[in-house]
Amino acid sequence: MPTDIEIARQATLKPITEVASAAGIPDDALIPYGKYKAKVDTSALPDNPNGKLILVTAINPTPAGEGKTTTSVGLSDALHRIGKKTMLCLREPSLGPCFGMKGGGAGGGKSQVMPMDEINLHFTGDFHAITSAHNLLSAMIDNSVYWGNPNDIDVRRITWKRVLDMNDRALRQIVGPLGGVSNGFPRESGFDITVASEIMAILCLASDLKDLQKRLGDIIIGYTRKREPVYCRDIKADSAMTVLLKDAILPNLVQTLENRPAFLHGGPFANIAHGCNSVIATKTALKMADYTVTEAGFGADLGAEKFLDIKCRLAGLRPDAIVLVATVRSLKMNGGVPKNELTEGENVDAVRAGSVNLKRHIENLKKFGITPTIAINHFYLDTDAEIAVIEEMAKEYGADAVVCKHWAEGGAGAEELARIVSAKADAGAPEFDQLYPSDMPLADKITTVATEIYRAGEVSISPAIRKQLKQWEDMGYADYPVCMAKTQYSFSTDPTALGAPDDHTVEINEVRLSAGAGFIVAIAGGIMTMPGLPKVPSAENIYLDENGQIEGLF
Ligand code: ADP
Ligand code: MG
Repeated sequence: MPTDIEIARQATLKPITEVASAAGIPDDALIPYGKYKAKVDTSALPDNPNGKLILVTAINPTPAGEGKTTTSVGLSDALHRIGKKTMLCLREPSLGPCFGMKGGGAGGGKSQVMPMDEINLHFTGDFHAITSAHNLLSAMIDNSVYWGNPNDIDVRRITWKRVLDMNDRALRQIVGPLGGVSNGFPRESGFDITVASEIMAILCLASDLKDLQKRLGDIIIGYTRKREPVYCRDIKADSAMTVLLKDAILPNLVQTLENRPAFLHGGPFANIAHGCNSVIATKTALKMADYTVTEAGFGADLGAEKFLDIKCRLAGLRPDAIVLVATVRSLKMNGGVPKNELTEGENVDAVRAGSVNLKRHIENLKKFGITPTIAINHFYLDTDAEIAVIEEMAKEYGADAVVCKHWAEGGAGAEELARIVSAKADAGAPEFDQLYPSDMPLADKITTVATEIYRAGEVSISPAIRKQLKQWEDMGYADYPVCMAKTQYSFSTDPTALGAPDDHTVEINEVRLSAGAGFIVAIAGGIMTMPGLPKVPSAENIYLDENGQIEGLF
């Protein structure tokens, strides 16, 4: 099997104008960025009735990922192949991590979105715009302090940091400005990676430019000496930031290897943010196609829960069907096989033991009123006996399971999945409901997710954190959903507790208010908002060959 980039190079792309017109996007709504990428002016689109929304999520993964993006692409292509007008909606990948570990975020094998090198690098500049808007606010905060500090900002309590789309641990914690009176007042601060910026989450939840500006204005940048919040609008940065984001808010149109349309728009972290593509892209897709396929980050305990409890709640969306991706290798790992032994031959018993993880995810999704369809993402080392166990277990847990070979075969390998899922979407999911109501107290929301989804026996929230949550409720944030940040490898907060742990303790170490985005972040375990590079970063082996083609990136 050729590598992802080899497959990508053999692809015959269509001009983006052709892809757009096949998707019903009129010429005057298309803003081409070169030949194969375009932004879409959503105001120039017809106001069609909404199509069906299909969410792709997964069981707890191995470190390599179980193929949510690849399956989303394959399913979308397959839906087209069986005659269903479909739009794919994915996140834009972050540039920084591409230089740490090999691999991108544009799918794999014969289920990829194109042009994958551009998508993974600068793409249409959205992340640059977000970085600039974020840092404009940072600069205006320090400038305001410099020129007399009219908002009485306590420089020790400025929570707004700076961002960069690069893995750079040297910037996690910094002291500045240094160098004397003319440079300002030294204070401690730091950098996050751009995808962790609250502005990324805001861009992905905003309904339009006006709503975007309001949410930007609502950002809390820090506190006064009297501990009163200082808002972005107090710094008067919100309107200029909106100007910087006016193009970034428009969805990006690209194509799959099978020349089918895909929106790639926004890429918030799946831990301290909600981890799915923009509401604008999803809502636009629903108007343009009969079926919209979208992915939520991490496993279903984090990604799907946030998609359903945060994105769907805040945007008034509801899924019509859910696909839960499972692989033999992740079930083996959840069944106790060490991760460096996952390719060492058939192990039916481990798959069976690990299926408790699959079972738990099915039960959890049913709590939202939707029984997922299991997509068994086929890897070439999988044996028939191992696959049969997943099919058998899924059936026992009341879910349909389909073997999918889209990675090796493209959309043709996922037609059966497409048929089953589209039929389910058409049948509707009348009982869909969020896990908790918006008016539940914040601490109870955290406890509900931890006990219902993670199956914690105990949820430990310190008196100080409870007091903080209470304060936010009194400030008017009582109806915000909670955005949980924990490891993606386990239902618990211990990444080594695989399978289906229960009666564990979830300890909330910290809570943060994303006032502009519209959620409370509850952190259970250490969360990294500025990644580092590994000992041998992949950047050391990335170069342009004699034909000007990128080598070493994928
Ligand atoms: P996720 O979105 O769940 O993180 P991806 O779709 O990005 O996962 O896939 C993770 C990696 O696994 C990618 O490098 C992809 O090419 C590879 N991959 C996915 N499915 C298969 C498969 N069936 N066979 C081989 N490799 C696969
Ligand atoms: Mg993915």
